[in-house]
Amino acid sequence: MIYTGGTIGMVRDLSTGLLKPLDFSHLLNQIPELHQFDLIIDTRTFEPVIDSSEIQPSLWQSLAEMIMKEYHNYDGFVILHGTDTMAYTASALSFMLPGLSKPVILTGSQLPIGTLRTDGKENLISSLEIAAATDKEGHPIVPEVSVYFEYKLFRGNRTTKYSAETFNAFQSPNYPLLAETGVHIHYNHAAILKYDPQRSPRLRRKLNTNIIFLKVFPGLPDYLTALICDQPDLEGIILETYGAGNGPTRRAFLDPLRKFIERGGIILNVSQCSAGMVDMEQYETGKKLQEAGVIGGRDLTKEAALTKMMLALSMDTSPEEKKMFLQTPICGEMHS
Ligand code: ASP
Repeated sequence: MIYTGGTIGMVRDLSTGLLKPLDFSHLLNQIPELHQFDLIIDTRTFEPVIDSSEIQPSLWQSLAEMIMKEYHNYDGFVILHGTDTMAYTASALSFMLPGLSKPVILTGSQLPIGTLRTDGKENLISSLEIAAATDKEGHPIVPEVSVYFEYKLFRGNRTTKYSAETFNAFQSPNYPLLAETGVHIHYNHAAILKYDPQRSPRLRRKLNTNIIFLKVFPGLPDYLTALICDQPDLEGIILETYGAGNGPTRRAFLDPLRKFIERGGIILNVSQCSAGMVDMEQYETGKKLQEAGVIGGRDLTKEAALTKMMLALSMDTSPEEKKMFLQTPICGEMHS
């Protein structure tokens, strides 16, 4: 069990009234139930523990390294993490650990574990149970990176935080649940990546962050699009478009995008809609983007698009190969 921070382990600072992360011993003291498990649970904590809004890719690198180092010592890994950026971390880990065949489950809570109505206990206890679950042959049931929250297990790189209020904080708009818990845990075996004894993970550590999200909206000033595309160090743009991947067709918008691509930049098209997918061959407003050299991200979440692009841009390959990598499903993150 790896603790990075987040609301699950926070307490309210009486002087400011604000929630602040507290160390791991505080959190462990709140969960005596852990001793009732018929499991050996070792714990690791990050120092300092943080609100996940502070997360940087260096934490993903440390997490991935920690999992690689301990991979053969444990049957599964549960990461306690703030909800704000949990979907980014889950997506990043899924791409950084290709070949993974053990459960890595991220969970957290909307209310701190010390509060009476906390959702943290159920989330943590069920995550541990799922991380340790094996089939008749003794193989892990969920050998992939997932997110567990409020009775639901989601594929990590398909997940997105959608509620800042309800316990039901996450959604996976384009992929079915991996499991649902009630009296029993119901696994959706057809949706879970198959266990393969031949697989063992490799670490893809490098991440290139020269990326920006550019969201189209009615009134987006063209000079800003040009300014962004002119940034010499910028290598990737995630273009958040309308509907099925559509955007403005005026030259003042498209020309800077085209120039950016001509100088080796990559523009990945994801939709502002959470459900459905980008298909730039449906409308003229999508086709023009495709003709300018923009590539389609199909049904990638924004979190998966960003982290996959960080990885793609760090590869020592040609722009064409990077584009191919971005458009090919590698660990169930997009529709094939
Ligand atoms: N701000 C918190 C965090 O992401 C929210 C949470 O954990 O629910 O760390």
